[in-house]
Amino acid sequence: MTKIAFIGLGNMGSGMCCNLAKAGHDVCAFDLNPEAVAQVEAAGATGATSVAEAVSGAKIVVSMLPAGKHVMSVYFGEDGVAAHAAPGTLFLDCSTVAVEDARQAAAQATEAGFPMVDAPVSGGTAAADAGTLTFMVGGPEAAFAQAKPLLEIMGKNVFHAGASGNGQVAKIANNMLLGISMIGTCEAFNLAEKLGLDAQTFFDISSTASGQCWSMTSYCPAPGPVPTAPSNRDYQPGFAAAMMLKDLRLAMGAADGADANTPLGRHAAEIYTRLDESGHGGLDFSGVMKQIQGEL
Ligand code: NAD
Repeated sequence: MTKIAFIGLGNMGSGMCCNLAKAGHDVCAFDLNPEAVAQVEAAGATGATSVAEAVSGAKIVVSMLPAGKHVMSVYFGEDGVAAHAAPGTLFLDCSTVAVEDARQAAAQATEAGFPMVDAPVSGGTAAADAGTLTFMVGGPEAAFAQAKPLLEIMGKNVFHAGASGNGQVAKIANNMLLGISMIGTCEAFNLAEKLGLDAQTFFDISSTASGQCWSMTSYCPAPGPVPTAPSNRDYQPGFAAAMMLKDLRLAMGAADGADANTPLGRHAAEIYTRLDESGHGGLDFSGVMKQIQGEL
């Protein structure tokens, strides 16, 4: 079995790491938080106390870190992955980072003799634990082929989106659409209710009409019609509004750089900024319903 180094054992990384270990891989795991390391040791991974120890002998390095600056420092900082990995080791970063950061990291890795793919995920902690994430992968074909068997352990859908950074492009474009569609769905339910149409009746009609979308049928922001939706547990996440805001900001930064016109994406980012700044970034992103209803 392949020796794998896994770095970043937070909400998402811990479940992903455990799934690789449970599948029989020899996983050596590192996180700045020793408690997170102890947790994955209990699931069969070997704990490391440094990046150098984790990557020693590894053929593949998997990372799941908060943001681009962490990815750059973990891989290319002093005593980072690139300083200790064997030549040719595959770098597989699953964090959500700026498109430019992903492209810069891949260029630096390639220059140093390491193939690298960006493989951000769609799906939250439940999907990470269950091994049912969706991966959107950017990078060379050969590196993608090498990463795919591991991604198939951690996820149920694995897409090659093209060259380096394209995994991040797919992720932010998708999540920009999701943020916009969630706000639109909230507005529609709120309008219907204000005009005397109850949520269930509006759902029954619109979910089979042209307004139908994932935000309505899987994650309905009005309590009632979709029992598993966060709206039925007072908008506990799920997918936190602060995480949606992170992705919208990445999308807006990338849109500026590419001169892409995204007026609704920008407005969605402003609306989620207001939700976050009013202290409600920990709500599920469908909690924007409360803001639309004037409750926050
Ligand atoms: P998290 O903050 O829970 O975990 C990040 C982990 O990285 C922490 O345990 C932290 O200690 C560790 N870390 C930070 N710097 C480190 C370093 N230098 N060396 C070693 N470990 C280090 O974050 P998360 O929720 O697991 O998210 C991880 C990534 O996945 C983010 O990029 C996020 O945008 C993305 N994502 C999250 C979700 C979600 O629902 N949580 C969904 C999709 C994508």
